[in-house]
Amino acid sequence: MKDVLNFIDGRYVSGTSGKTFANRSPVTGDVISLVHEAGKAEVDAAVRAARAALDGPWGSMPLPERAALLHRVADEINRRFDDFLDAEVADTGKPVSLASHIDIPRGAANFKIFADMIKNVPTEAFEMTDPSDGGRVLNYGVRVPKGVIAVVSPWNLPLLLMTWKVGPALACGNTVVVKPSEETPTTAALLGEVMNACGVPPGVYNVVHGFGPDSAGEFLTRHPGVDGITFTGETSTGTAIMKAAADGVRAVSFEMGGKNAGIVFADADFDKAVAGIARAAFVNCGQVCLGTERVYVERPIFDKFVAALKAKAEALKIGAPSDPDTGLGPLISHTHRDKVLSYYRKAVEEGATVVTGGGVPDMPEALAGGAWIQPTIWTGLSDDAAVVREEIFGPCCHIRPFDTEEEAIRLANDTDYGLATTVWTQNLSRAHRVAGKIDVGIAWVNSWFLRDLRTAFGGAKQSGIGREGGVHSLEFYTELRNVCVKL
Ligand code: NAD
Repeated sequence: MKDVLNFIDGRYVSGTSGKTFANRSPVTGDVISLVHEAGKAEVDAAVRAARAALDGPWGSMPLPERAALLHRVADEINRRFDDFLDAEVADTGKPVSLASHIDIPRGAANFKIFADMIKNVPTEAFEMTDPSDGGRVLNYGVRVPKGVIAVVSPWNLPLLLMTWKVGPALACGNTVVVKPSEETPTTAALLGEVMNACGVPPGVYNVVHGFGPDSAGEFLTRHPGVDGITFTGETSTGTAIMKAAADGVRAVSFEMGGKNAGIVFADADFDKAVAGIARAAFVNCGQVCLGTERVYVERPIFDKFVAALKAKAEALKIGAPSDPDTGLGPLISHTHRDKVLSYYRKAVEEGATVVTGGGVPDMPEALAGGAWIQPTIWTGLSDDAAVVREEIFGPCCHIRPFDTEEEAIRLANDTDYGLATTVWTQNLSRAHRVAGKIDVGIAWVNSWFLRDLRTAFGGAKQSGIGREGGVHSLEFYTELRNVCVKL
């Protein structure tokens, strides 16, 4: 049995408590590794190591050298592409075709984009006159690292979302302590090997394993040695972390849940819209924060759209990650499947028409222990049904007709969340008008999950606080210091 260890100050260590927990395959249900849980002592050691690195070799490293080192990290991830791919697929059960195109390449790219960005960041300078004597005064801004950053990450895109934070944090000169999801600890641990191989000083990148409350997650976010907390996960967890961050008034950057709307107008390119919404609803088994669980379709094409999306869902091959034809892997765990299935039942209780799916598929014996689920489409629910209002995080969506542009905008905005939307129309003016009126951090037009890493990423309302991506990451990962010089 493989052991997954904590990575502290450049070394792999188990917890002093000796506690381990099982990491299970979502595909078979088998235990694939034992994860060594960090207690308070390990979290404290990791934060201290991060502080020492900040005050030591990392803090004094010239920026071009730091940026070059992060390029090496990206190259080393790419060199060990298959190791990362195997680990990510084993932990998540997602199709190899998906992880090899999205998760691992983005994991490497997240280091390069921010290493390049940091070399080209401008700051401000102002000249003024000292009113007391008419002398000249120069003000200029310098960006300094925030300090020790706690990175708390989820299980749906483990390496991608973790490095989306670690990349800019390190590029800006911070050090990090990462608490990966208990469901997917392996690639975060593996990244420690990469850091050592590239010569990143010990203590710059640390990993502590465990759960949230009364475990590594809470110990880390409550640790007074942490200067800022960046978190991706559920809104309810963000609420708990924000309370922890209040002690010591630490900064937070949050990317949280969504209940995203897709809007399809009758003038859309029909086939592209169906394919786009199918991806947004079902890819990664619906476990994408940006995914579309509410679909609003203009009435003249409603029936045709429902039939076409049904056909797409039913054509998805549910199966093993290694099969190149697999379109849908399992959910992350049986616990998560229980949650998703509870919504499948609730939809029926609330009066939905089940267009397709609604249950658990029959699987061959070798895969019978996995957390498999059918992609599911509903129609006919009221706008206040739980399934329409709450994030499910499964391969499912509810489709509802609308009659006017104003109605579509109102329905899309009728949610506590504000992460993303996808709008499908060939009317240029309408595309811009609607995208500008949906209260979200990211509005896609005739596309979905198309990302330029230089652009701002984040959510409005209960979907997040702050923006990451390109220069926007500077807002959280640096402090802008003003230096005022009397000349
Ligand atoms: P989660 O909130 O359950 O867990 C995320 C991380 O927080 C894990 O590492 C967990 O151990 C830790 N944690 C849990 N409780 C904690 C506590 N009290 N203190 C400190 N740490 C704690 O989320 P998840 O189930 O892993 O991920 C799914 C959720 O993430 C969905 O809601 C999804 O929308 C959201 N998500 C958002 C984005 C985004 O960019 N907005 C991206 C991916 C996922």
